[in-house]
Amino acid sequence: MTTKSNRASTVADGASGQAPKNAAARKTGPREIVLPPTLTVKHLGDLMKVNPIDVIKQLMRNGVMAAINQVIDFDLAATVTPAFGYKAMPEERASSAVAAARQDLDNVDESRLTTRSPVVTILGHVDHGKTTLLDTMRNSRITAGEVGGITQHIGAYQVEYKGQKITFLDTPGHEAFTAIRARGTRVTDIAVLVVAADDGVMPQTVEAIDHARAANLPIVVAINKMDKPEAEPDTVKRQLSEHGLLLEEWGGDVIGVPVSAKNNTGIDDLLENILVLAEVSELKADVDCPASGVVIESQLDRNKGPLATVLVQNGTLKVGNSVVAGAVWGRVRAMVDDLGRRVKEVGPSVPTEILGFSSLPQAGDRFHVTSDDRKARALAEENVQKSADEQNLALALTLEDVMTRINSGEVKELSLILKADAQGSVEAVRSSLERLDSPSARVNILHAGTGSVNESDVLLASASNAIILTFNIGVEPSAEQAAEREGVEIRSYDIIYQIIEDVEKALKGILEPTYKDVVQGRATLRAVFSAGKAGKAAGVMVDEGRLTRGVAARVIRDGEVIFEGTISSLRRFKDDVNEVNAGFECGVGMSGFQDFQEGDVIEAHRRERSRA
Ligand code: GDP
Repeated sequence: MTTKSNRASTVADGASGQAPKNAAARKTGPREIVLPPTLTVKHLGDLMKVNPIDVIKQLMRNGVMAAINQVIDFDLAATVTPAFGYKAMPEERASSAVAAARQDLDNVDESRLTTRSPVVTILGHVDHGKTTLLDTMRNSRITAGEVGGITQHIGAYQVEYKGQKITFLDTPGHEAFTAIRARGTRVTDIAVLVVAADDGVMPQTVEAIDHARAANLPIVVAINKMDKPEAEPDTVKRQLSEHGLLLEEWGGDVIGVPVSAKNNTGIDDLLENILVLAEVSELKADVDCPASGVVIESQLDRNKGPLATVLVQNGTLKVGNSVVAGAVWGRVRAMVDDLGRRVKEVGPSVPTEILGFSSLPQAGDRFHVTSDDRKARALAEENVQKSADEQNLALALTLEDVMTRINSGEVKELSLILKADAQGSVEAVRSSLERLDSPSARVNILHAGTGSVNESDVLLASASNAIILTFNIGVEPSAEQAAEREGVEIRSYDIIYQIIEDVEKALKGILEPTYKDVVQGRATLRAVFSAGKAGKAAGVMVDEGRLTRGVAARVIRDGEVIFEGTISSLRRFKDDVNEVNAGFECGVGMSGFQDFQEGDVIEAHRRERSRA
């Protein structure tokens, strides 16, 4: 087996190159910036690497006049950071969140690292046989000695080949795979690309290649449906080469294995080659530390309550452990493996269904074991707050942001996804963009294709910190929503020249942002009341959209704007809240304004960079 190992390679060689360093941090758009309780305007500018004058301008737009050396507090600073692509985080909160994130790594002792099984995802075009392949492998090759066990669909399973185990994720397709990656988590080690030999490379095959490449994943190609008389494996190999995936016969080092998922032929060879790639990838884990890993699936069982399938990535998970996964915590009451057997502990790469979470964690959530329930609960609560804050501030990563990062030397690559109306335009734009030359950064086109922007494009952009450019083509509504949720910028163009010009300007650092004003919510004032030290507050009913603390807002009386400022406080009953949606009443305070009157309209708005 080892003799073959020199054949293995990652598809990313010379293509994608740089994996997103900070995908985890960027997941929801803005980068986090830790700020002290008070700081000067100049200091804030320095921390964000922007001109303090721009900070002053932004404060002015929010209705606050401040001098460069003026000391401002955290809350005020936090109202301007989003405009520069940052989410402000108070020092004390940052320290505990960072500590929690670090805990996974701190527990790992390099000297104790041992080899772990590979985790494999099956990708490919619809109907090319992904599900059949997963079923065939599951049914014919469940762990030796356990034949007769009843396989359980828990979201992943293991097969054994020549004494070694391989973990397969049960949800095939690049959407599921990239959705987890977009949450900042890496689960998969190897991709199996299924291509039907009678159908050849199809649009989703190309998407799958690009998604695997963007994740820097090694690929092994399963050329499926070889039992069919119409099978043309050579055509498949040629087509793959046209997309940069060079099989051996084409002078490359990607392994292609002919199989028939239906007739269960060629599967041994496929498994053998997966193990070759695993060996080359040197997959390691520490089994002796408290467990951490990823939730890959969750469901509510009517009798048992929340069930979650997890993959341990480091350490050993044991019954009785306290765990936190995103905003959810729990104590492991029981664990069941992919053959329905109860297990007491599991190590890395072994999929297990856990019983004992307080509610449903989400696929892609990282989990880790904590010292006790109290700690798990506290961390979960902290994550609830964090994700609420992130949603409030989900700003798109824009072309201008990437430009700023290129200027500061933080990144050397501008990752793009290109969608156009016709193959001719795709090629024209792609070749012009790839010719753009800049000493500071290069253009990396992660995926280019025809047809409207779909959700999988958005997830890929989110997972890889890329910008989506469209030419003469629309955006699917679901993709539009995903872009908003994930903080992905989609720039639409109808002149090729303008695309090239904007990207060139971004590379050179001279792109000027353009803004538009977007109304986020409207509320009608029903009563004015005294709010103690803060002066007067407005009791309002939110009629449309939402009001968010910290956003810019205007007070409108009889159709005229009488004040422009910022929502400085939001209260529901006795509680300070971050956001109030349409249909609810709340108390609103605005910095620098007291003169509320019944019937006033408060309009929350934000400046958004407008798409080209
Ligand atoms: P998926 O959409 O990629 O998951 O594809 P499926 O596994 O659902 O397979 C699509 C169709 O192709 C089904 O009718 C399968 O029975 C058939 N199929 C899958 N693998 C093979 C194969 O190796 N040979 C033949 N002849 N048909 C296959």
